[in-house]
Amino acid sequence: MVPDKIPDTVPGRIEYLSHCTSAEWESLCKGCGLCCLCKYALRDGVCYSRMACNWLDLKTHHCTIYAHRNEMPFCNKISVDMILHDGVLPDTCGYREFIFGKSNKKISVDFSDVIHLQDAYTKKIEFIKMLIPESINWCGRQR
Ligand code: SF4
Ligand code: SF4
Repeated sequence: MVPDKIPDTVPGRIEYLSHCTSAEWESLCKGCGLCCLCKYALRDGVCYSRMACNWLDLKTHHCTIYAHRNEMPFCNKISVDMILHDGVLPDTCGYREFIFGKSNKKISVDFSDVIHLQDAYTKKIEFIKMLIPESINWCGRQR
C-alpha cells in the first residue's frame, strides 16, 4: 500500500522506497509491461522495441513467471538504484513517477504490434526494424 502521507521530497520518497515492504513496493507498479520490452542502448539513450521478453503476456502485460523472474539472468531486477540511475525505465513507470512526480510524456505502445523475441527470431525479423524511434525520449527525466 502506498503510505497515507507520501514524503514530500525526492530524497524522502527515495528513502521510503528503500525501506518499504514488498506489498508497498508492488503496489507502485502500473503493470504497463514497458520494462519487459527489449531495448537497445544508443549513445544518446535507450531505444525501446516492439519485441518483448518471451514470458510477457502480451494481452495482460503481466509476467507469466513473476514469482521466478529474478532467477532469470535476462530479467533486470528493478531496484531503487535502477530506477534512479540506469535510464532504462520510462518516465511514466510507476516507480519513477512516485519519486519524481507524474510525467506528462505521452508514452504508449500498441501491444497488438508487439511480438515475443522468440517469434521474431523464428520469423527472422530484424531487431532494428522493431525499434520505436521516439522511445529515445522516454527515459531520463529528473527533477
Ligand atoms: S521475466 Fe522479467 S522481463 Fe520477462 S516478462 Fe517477466 S518481468 Fe518481464
Ligand atoms: S515500467 Fe514500471 S510501471 Fe511499467 S511494468 Fe515496468 S516496473 Fe511496472
